[in-house]
Amino acid sequence: MTKPTLRRLMAALSLGLAAVAVTTVAHATHSWGGYHWARTTPQFTLKLGNNMTTADWRAHLAQTSSDWNSGNSAVLTAIVAGTSNKRCSMVAGTTQVCNGTYGNNGWLGLASINITGGTHITQGSAKMNDTYFNTSTYNNPNERKHVVCQEVAHTFGLDHQSTDGSSQNSCMDYFSNTGANATSTLSTKPNQHDFDELNLIYAHLDSTTTVAMIAAQVAAFSQGPAAAVRDISDDPQSWGQLVRQSPNGRSSHYERENGDGSRNVTHVYWTLEVAERCVSCDHRFQR
Ligand SMILES: [Zn+2]
Ligand SMILES: [Zn+2]
Repeated sequence: MTKPTLRRLMAALSLGLAAVAVTTVAHATHSWGGYHWARTTPQFTLKLGNNMTTADWRAHLAQTSSDWNSGNSAVLTAIVAGTSNKRCSMVAGTTQVCNGTYGNNGWLGLASINITGGTHITQGSAKMNDTYFNTSTYNNPNERKHVVCQEVAHTFGLDHQSTDGSSQNSCMDYFSNTGANATSTLSTKPNQHDFDELNLIYAHLDSTTTVAMIAAQVAAFSQGPAAAVRDISDDPQSWGQLVRQSPNGRSSHYERENGDGSRNVTHVYWTLEVAERCVSCDHRFQR
């Protein structure tokens, strides 16, 4: 190889490396506020409490758990018996997953986490609203898979890859598997960028853990008046302040400071109808 050829090759190679670096930075933006579970090992297993009441939701939860595990990323999931209720009260050290007819409140899916020390997730909940999933617009397996995959993964600390409605073929986008796309399986599973992002979020180790607490710690954390303070209620006011909303109005992020120094952050996935009616409104107050 002549010297100029070698130089050209090196230049091309460094350009390639620069492109890789830029890409990695871009993907690093879909962490949800840097929130993550504290853990002392590079890979950990998050318990998903199965409170699903129907066979199809149970099957979709099983599928999404195995899909998230398929990347062999820092975050693995295991489905355990649900210990929550229809309201989907949080249980320390776990994400409780629920479906229910939560009413005509405008939201299809809701993911909420409790944070201590600014960034550490202590507990989470993911809810799917059958009031809408039982209607013809949303009542199809692909839309259900998309939403459960996304809401569960918000509780890992993962944000959306895109909110403009285009498909990145990741469940962390806002493609709508409805209408002409009801039979499309696009965006019903995580993609490689999601796994890469999880590995970035969880690249460091913590000296403590907020997962795999022993039973006595879970019981202590999950009982008493303090536990209620660290959870949201059925009242959308309990989500706190609207912090940001996607330009098309389908995705909102709320935060609430709790009296005990912890914080609740909630992701809301609104229906097409409520978003279209007024894209920039706080949809809680729009009936
Ligand atoms: Zn940490
Ligand atoms: Zn979301």
